[in-house]
This record gives sequence, C-alpha cells and structure tokens, in this order.
Amino acid sequence: MDNVVAESLVAMPVERKDGTYALRIPLSQGQFTPGMMKTVMETMAKFDLTSLRVTTGQRLNLEGIPKEKLEEVISSLGTKIEKVPPTVGVCSGVGVCKFGVQDSRAMGKKLLEVVKANGPYPFKIKSGVSGCKIACGFSHVRDIGLVGTPKGWDVLFGGGAARNVRAGVKIGTRLSEDEALALIEKALDFYKENGRKRERISGLVDRLGEEALLEAVK
Ligand code: SF4
Repeated sequence: MDNVVAESLVAMPVERKDGTYALRIPLSQGQFTPGMMKTVMETMAKFDLTSLRVTTGQRLNLEGIPKEKLEEVISSLGTKIEKVPPTVGVCSGVGVCKFGVQDSRAMGKKLLEVVKANGPYPFKIKSGVSGCKIACGFSHVRDIGLVGTPKGWDVLFGGGAARNVRAGVKIGTRLSEDEALALIEKALDFYKENGRKRERISGLVDRLGEEALLEAVK
C-alpha cells in the first residue's frame, strides 16, 4: 500500500461503559477508499487498537481508545466533529446491482440534503434508499424509506426497527425524484409540528395514527 496516499478523516468521540472511547467515523454512503483505509490502519497500528466495527448506519466505529490517548488518536485520523450527519443507508443500486431500476446512490445524496436542510427534528432520523423492491437498503423499517420501481419511487415514512417496530406507511407511489423529495419535506413538517422530544417518527405514527400522517401529506 506504499503508493496509496492517506486521507484525512473526521471522527466523533463517544464514551463507552468501560470508560474507553469509540470514534465514530462517517463514510459517504458506506464507501471506503484505499487512502482512508491506510489512515485507519496506520492509526490502529500506532495506538495498538484492535477493534474496528462497521455499523448498521454504514459508518465505522473505532473502539477501545483509552481516554488519555483520545486526542492523539483523533489527530492521527484527522479532525474531531461534534455530530455525524443523519444516516442515509443506500444499497449498491443501479450500475452495480443487476436488479437496480433506480439510482439509489444519487437519490441518497439528495435525500440527505433534504433531511439536513429541514432540521432540527424531535429526534434522530434514519433513512434507507433501495434501487428496487428487494429493498436491501432496509427502506421499510427506516424513518424515511425510498424504494425504486420501474415507474419511479415509492415513499415510506415512519418505519422503525427499534422499540416501536413497524413498517413505514406508504405515503406515495411511483413518484419522480422531485415529487418524492417534496413529499418527504411535507412529512418531515408533520414530524416537526407533532413529534415530542426524543420521539421517533414510528412512535409518532403509533400515537397519532396512520390516517393523521396521510391527511397531513395529501
Ligand atoms: S435493493 Fe435491489 S438494486 Fe439495491 S442492492 Fe438490493 S437487489 Fe440490488
């Protein structure tokens, strides 16, 4: 790997139960370049760190960092951040996967911009974008889910795989990219106006009912 140039990363510290720290490293749509790998591997070797974990949100967690070494490890990786961007999980999609009928990666980028631009929200938002109905992006159990069909995007809202486990409510079908994103903005307004502090969208939909959501985005 000597010809691979290292890349600077951003990382958010998270304290663990045992007093050590993890550094959460956001990746763009789960993509990891050789330069990023080199930075992480060199840092792990330098500080004798042995646990690097891929999260369900397509991020990396570098675990087991002693408190007194935290700042040095961050400097070795790149830059410290206070908050990682909201999660938009994407499948490999059209161009990579033979089943893909819509461009999940391009749509994932646009969705992330919409989610970032419309905040703050009562609680965190996880999204999943899938290029076809097989839904590898877990679109049915994410707060916001998009599923590609040959005729456009299906939009799901309020899915969850945590305490309020439920499938997202289908609020739109076969929409163009712009139509789908505009609909999601409306649904996010509903969440901002009605969600209680630290209430996920799935909890809100359980509390107020699917009809209230469907009425709000009509
Ligand atoms: S959701 Fe469809 S397009 Fe995306 S990776 Fe899975 S099979 Fe392929």
